[in-house]
Amino acid sequence: MWDQQIQDAAHLLRPARSGVAFTGAGISTPSGIPDFRSPHSGIWANADPLAVASIFTFRHNPQAFYNWIYPIAEITTHALPNPAHYALAALESQGRIKAVITQNIDMLHTRAGSQTIYELHGHLREATCVNCFTIFPAEPIIRKFLDDRLVPYCTNCGGVIKPNVILFGEQLPAQTLLAAQDAARKCDVMIVIGSSLEVAPASEIPMLALRRGAKLIIVNLEPTHLDPLASVVIHADAADILPRVLKLMEDTVHHGG
Ligand code: NAD
Repeated sequence: MWDQQIQDAAHLLRPARSGVAFTGAGISTPSGIPDFRSPHSGIWANADPLAVASIFTFRHNPQAFYNWIYPIAEITTHALPNPAHYALAALESQGRIKAVITQNIDMLHTRAGSQTIYELHGHLREATCVNCFTIFPAEPIIRKFLDDRLVPYCTNCGGVIKPNVILFGEQLPAQTLLAAQDAARKCDVMIVIGSSLEVAPASEIPMLALRRGAKLIIVNLEPTHLDPLASVVIHADAADILPRVLKLMEDTVHHGG
């Protein structure tokens, strides 16, 4: 299945000089981390992240936020990169793509070996006191939280500690967003993987690339609103498709293409 589309994707990526990957929660579902919008498996199905994962809830009822994030924190702590993450890291080391722009907070691109990563929605590497803004490494804080399930407090001032993830109602990190937009404007091919393209402003980035003449490849289980504008659309599991694209690229290298 999808043989022709995989060849078409490899054909577009082969001459790419400034390819960029744009990833969403769907690239990490094969690692066991549920996405927000897939029917049944999504986190969305059990609670409304717009309500719980918002900066307003966090400020007024941090324990409600931490109760919601508990299973996600637990899964993410133990999750490992899957073949889709590794394929992107390999495409970067081959020079086919220059960067990964991700909406994910799970750090699996880093763990797979990708080098240039723009984490538009933050990450679980660090956490910050909302009162005195001291930044802490997140790992010991998450470990303690997984044990006691309680809101973590700042050891300096007693303020509530928030993981460095962007909640609904918060601005995206400006430098990261600008750098990602710049990479999108300059790219010749963008491969979108596992994103419903429904969360703005991140979801506007593929359109930026398209407007500057980049070709779009979409690998997503479900249709997206940009499918009609894409050069290649594959509705299948990214962890199956991306290694197959990579394999074709490697065969090309070995055969001198
Ligand atoms: P989304 O949940 O809105 O959409 C995910 C898309 O991925 C869906 O359209 C689904 O069809 C597709 N998908 C699921 N599994 C797939 C697979 N194996 N292969 C290919 N496609 C697959 O996700 P989004 O667009 O990234 O936006 C959700 C927001 O939630 C983001 O802002 C992100 O910050 C956050 N989030 C992050 C994580 C994470 O870090 N892993 C997990 C859940 C949510």
